[in-house]
Amino acid sequence: MVEIAIPDPSLVVLIGAAGAGKSTFAARHFAPDEILSSDRFRELISGDAADQRSTAAAFGRLHHELERRLAVRRLTVVDATSVQPASRRALLARARSAGIPATAIVLDLPTTTVLGRNLARLTRVVDETVVHRHLGRLRASLEGAPPTLFDEGFAQVVVLRDPAEVDLVRIRRGPP
Ligand code: ATP
Ligand code: MG
Repeated sequence: MVEIAIPDPSLVVLIGAAGAGKSTFAARHFAPDEILSSDRFRELISGDAADQRSTAAAFGRLHHELERRLAVRRLTVVDATSVQPASRRALLARARSAGIPATAIVLDLPTTTVLGRNLARLTRVVDETVVHRHLGRLRASLEGAPPTLFDEGFAQVVVLRDPAEVDLVRIRRGPP
């Protein structure tokens, strides 16, 4: 069992390529109202979770909701790829200004697992070149030139590399 202790309230940032299993992980461990999903906002705006033209508007809405939730000290999970430093910086800034700690949960799974999961999806298979781009950005964030993801200001960074380990995770919520 892998136990992840998360103070409540917290900002939880899931990080991983398309197909890594972020939404599945979120649904397994958190209540639906605690999860802010970029795909869900794309769908609300354009009727299509895959519509990349609504990305800017979707993230605008996501940040707006995040700010509101953190202001009332509600634990909030952001379900987006967050493989780019700038995306994480923007989320961390929200947590910092609300005085709430941020935990990164990174799904750094083998390339074959991620590509296989993406292809096996019944809906919204993401172009493989996009998945490779996500994987490259994630590796650079973890292992590239500093500053790495570990230096960005997360109170805790949990990196899960083994699919079996992901399935054994238990989230333990604690006091702030
Ligand atoms: P995206 O960034 O595109 O939204 P995602 O990271 O949210 O992708 P999911 O939609 O959660 O990925 O999962 C991708 C596929 O992999 C789904 O078909 C899902 O059922 C499968 N999957 C996710 N997690 C697991 C798991 N732990 N074991 C087996 N299959 C999984
Ligand atoms: Mg998803």
